[in-house]
Amino acid sequence: MQVTYLGHASFSIKSDGKTIFVDPWLNGPTSPIKVGDVTEADLCLVTHDHGDHGYAEAVEICKKTGATFVAINELALKAKEDGVENVHTLNIGGSVEVGGVTVTLVQAFHSSTLGTPTGFIVKLPSGTFYHPGDTGLFYDMKLFGELYDIDLFFVPIGSYYVMGIKEAVKATELVGPKVVIPMHFDTFPAIAANPKQFYQKVTDKGKTKVEIMKPGETKEIDI
Ligand code: ZN
Repeated sequence: MQVTYLGHASFSIKSDGKTIFVDPWLNGPTSPIKVGDVTEADLCLVTHDHGDHGYAEAVEICKKTGATFVAINELALKAKEDGVENVHTLNIGGSVEVGGVTVTLVQAFHSSTLGTPTGFIVKLPSGTFYHPGDTGLFYDMKLFGELYDIDLFFVPIGSYYVMGIKEAVKATELVGPKVVIPMHFDTFPAIAANPKQFYQKVTDKGKTKVEIMKPGETKEIDI
C-alpha cells in the first residue's frame, strides 16, 4: 500500500491499481498539491463536512477524474447536487463495493452540519485501512478491529478538536493494526502535538509499528 500524506487528515492511498483520496483538504496550508495536480482518482471519501476535510476539493477531484464520491447520505446527496456523477450515499454500518474495493461507513464522535461525522474502513485485495475521521476515543473501535482485520490505522493525535496522544495510544490498542500513522496535529497552534511521544508509547507496547509521516511524504507501507 503506497500512502501519501497530504497534511492534516488528508491522504491518498494507492493499492491494487486504485487511487483513493480520504479527506483531501488540498487547499489546506500543509497540502503539497492542489486539485490541479491530481490526474487520477478512483474513490474520494469524505468523513464529514468541516472545511478542513476537503469536501469542496473532493467534489472537484471527482468531476475531473470521474472518481466515485462516498460519504454519509446527506453529504453525498449534496455532492450529487453539486454535480458529481458517481455517488454512494452510505449510512452508518453500511458497505458498498466499488471496483473491488469495499468501503464501510462507521460512526465517529465529533460534530458536522450535514448528516453525522463518520470514519471509513476500506478493504482492498492487499489489505484493509481504517480512517476514523475526526473523533474522540470510543470502545467500539475494538469491535472494528475484531470484525474487519485492520492492517493500517490512521489516528488523530492533536487533541482540542479530536483525541490526543493518550487516547490515540488506547485507540491503537483497541483497533490492533499492523501499522499506525498519526494525523491531525500541528496544522494549527491549537493542535500542536509531538508524534515522537505517540511513537514511543505505541512502540513500548510492541504490537503495532508506527510510521510518522511529513506532509508531502510518500511511503510504501508494508502490511
Ligand atoms: Zn471536524
